[in-house]
Amino acid sequence: MAQRSKVIQAEFVEFDCSECGKGVYRVTTLENVIHTQPKQWEHACTNCGRKCHIAKPFPLLRYKGQEFMLAKYAADGIEVYSPVRATLDKSK
Ligand SMILES: [Zn+2]
Repeated sequence: MAQRSKVIQAEFVEFDCSECGKGVYRVTTLENVIHTQPKQWEHACTNCGRKCHIAKPFPLLRYKGQEFMLAKYAADGIEVYSPVRATLDKSK
């Protein structure tokens, strides 16, 4: 079997921060995923840093009515590099 790829036109879906209205939410770290059904990923706003849990890891892609999340968020136990991580409050 071999992989094959082609260029498609997909939508890049971001989750706007309702708090500051400027930033978008990005997944912080896989360590803070809540394993409910569906899972809840911890996100932080790129502008104000507000944190919240969202049932999908943003950003994601939408193509032909289907949403695609990044493969790194599908795998458990794999470290995600995130610059936000350095600023996470470790005390909680
Ligand atoms: Zn914000």
